[in-house]
Amino acid sequence: MSKTHNNYQSPLPVDDSGFYGRFGGAYIPEILHRNVENLREAYFEAVDDPKFKEEFDWLMRHYVGRPSPLYYAKRLSERYGTNIYLKREDLNHTGAHKINNAIGSALLAKRMGKTRIIAETGAGQHGVATATVCALMGLDCVVYMGATDVARQQPNVERMKMLGAKVVPVTTGNHTLKDATNEAIRDWCCNPRDSFYIIGSTVGPHPYPEMVARFQSVISEEIRWQLKELTGSEEPDYVIACVGGGSNAAGAFYHFINSPKVKLIAAEAGGKGVDTDETAATIACGREGIIHGARTLVMQTADGQITEPYSISAGLDYPGIGPLHAFLAESKRSQVLAINDDEALRAAYLLTNLEGIIPALESAHALGVLDKKKFGKDDTVVVNLSGRGDKDMATYLRFQSNKNERI
Ligand SMILES: *Cc1c(COP(=O)(O)O)cnc(C)c1O
Repeated sequence: MSKTHNNYQSPLPVDDSGFYGRFGGAYIPEILHRNVENLREAYFEAVDDPKFKEEFDWLMRHYVGRPSPLYYAKRLSERYGTNIYLKREDLNHTGAHKINNAIGSALLAKRMGKTRIIAETGAGQHGVATATVCALMGLDCVVYMGATDVARQQPNVERMKMLGAKVVPVTTGNHTLKDATNEAIRDWCCNPRDSFYIIGSTVGPHPYPEMVARFQSVISEEIRWQLKELTGSEEPDYVIACVGGGSNAAGAFYHFINSPKVKLIAAEAGGKGVDTDETAATIACGREGIIHGARTLVMQTADGQITEPYSISAGLDYPGIGPLHAFLAESKRSQVLAINDDEALRAAYLLTNLEGIIPALESAHALGVLDKKKFGKDDTVVVNLSGRGDKDMATYLRFQSNKNERI
């Protein structure tokens, strides 16, 4: 169950080769082998070093603004007849959980003596978090982004540029996230000496899924003591989070994975429905395959071509899923629900109306679960609010005007 590298123990169900059951591993070309090996060694050495943790904790507190509140949502709780706590990752600097991983990874890059950071981004959130941290630490930053995404995520592109990053539009494939990821990996192959690749989720070859989960685990570390203060118990009945690649969910689940009492629910993006072609529900619709260096579930055609996923939320339309989540779902440790576009939009409006919090569209998928499950009046339900909704205003406004037209 847990593995030991030096003194480091992981509570994740992962073996020494990075396998979660049959998912995970490191399926990489020969040319990347040294890079990944160096990264693995440096990472396991760093997480053993109290000085590394001290530096990480200091930035979490003074730069990111942690701990993020665990907020008892009174009116939302009344509405659902249960006790709902929101983990407010939306209040972090840059507005989402991605900064936690960007800081941990950049600290590791500096420790390894790297001066140049490579990242990929879809909606731009990971790109902005990475560009932010590179400005903070004086590192060069190159962000690969599908040309289609560059066009539709202009404000985030401008942000990255102002922060000093070079944004490279990618025009291979479908000009979206998976193509940007391929380009980022290609760059890393060519520049192994000075460059460090920061992946934005719990995906990619080992040790990335484990490393990103570890940096995000600050979320559940805080939930435990915050819940103890608020309710007297460290363990809720449910933890709910949305999954794209799976990093915010991994962080929210991390310190509960070995607590059988705590039910883990992952919300994936149903798009227009899991029975349509327009979906990003990888666990419902994907088949086993290899994507970006890991064996996992992948959205693919009958002959194994990776298909373009769809979701109203740009942060959830990755055609794979982190190997940890493929394993948790298959072993029934987690329950996975597909939340469709319209369900997420309704959940976002409900939270806004009852609590005065506009959530990211991704996080709204986690909130959509509240309508699909029946919770007891004494249950404690934690929903990870992965990000804030400012970036999604155009989509929300479009939905609202459509609704008005229908009335
Ligand atoms: C990127 C993003 C996600 C999806 O990524 P995960 O790795 O699955 O967490 C979810 N919420 C927000 C706000 C994001 O920016």
